[in-house]
Amino acid sequence: MSDGTLTPEALAERAAANGVTLWSLTDHDEIAGQARALAAAKSAGLQYLTGTEISVSFAGQTVHIVGLGFDAHDPRMAQGLLKTRGGREQRAQEMADQLAAVGIPGCFEGALRFVGNPELISRTHFARHLVESGVCSDTHEVFRNYLTEGKPGFVPHRWASLREAVQWITECAGVAVIAHPARYKFSANEEYALFSEFKAHGGVAVEVVTGSHTAHEATVYAQVAQEFGLAASRGSDFHSPHESRIDLGQLPELPKGLTPVWELVGHRIQ
Ligand code: AMP
Ligand code: MN
Repeated sequence: MSDGTLTPEALAERAAANGVTLWSLTDHDEIAGQARALAAAKSAGLQYLTGTEISVSFAGQTVHIVGLGFDAHDPRMAQGLLKTRGGREQRAQEMADQLAAVGIPGCFEGALRFVGNPELISRTHFARHLVESGVCSDTHEVFRNYLTEGKPGFVPHRWASLREAVQWITECAGVAVIAHPARYKFSANEEYALFSEFKAHGGVAVEVVTGSHTAHEATVYAQVAQEFGLAASRGSDFHSPHESRIDLGQLPELPKGLTPVWELVGHRIQ
């Protein structure tokens, strides 16, 4: 429902076919797909946890906080996410203006063709447009040359605060998880602040094994999880069969000695 290319039903079938037993659909800043994902999980014989991935501004960068096992019917979650999404359309206009200034016009309209809801327009949709229109040969090339810090089409945005995101998740009976920590470009002090503040606000887990981490990065964040007393999560970051490095169910196991996050939300599994 945010920037993946497959439907919740197709994802559930793909997950089951790949050997997944417990699945969560984690759209960016959106929970509109949760009812369909749960129904599709049941049809495919999968256990299910509700999920979302909230965009947060922290120390000048965007951090993603995954929520798992929250009550998707609690209005506080929907209200929080609605607030976070505000401003994506305006930001997309500014991104398109920057791209036009370097000779690539029409990107707002182009990106919109890939997104159902303009409230959820993201860099992924711009990336797909830049590939389809022949400016770049794949989305990895897009993010090397455009849409990232210091490159044309990058517009920083003020998302939710870390405190807000963790609060929305926990007050709706879910658990908060720091997504793909190795992807951020924080100094050691900033990263320490992220983990400390996250814990102080009630966050309980960190993604250790993810499609966005190398094997070495998984080892590094396994240690960080132990240092901070956080449980460990495993997430594919799967967006599309053509764009993602790792398919559903294809990640390695969590390193030994960590508490899997799903043990903390066993009572929330459907
Ligand atoms: P946005 O929420 O609009 O800032 O877009 C964030 C999304 O863009 C991420 O969740 C990824 O799907 C994609 N993205 C951002 N940076 C990269 C990158 N360096 N390589 C591949 N995808 C990226
Ligand atoms: Mn995404």
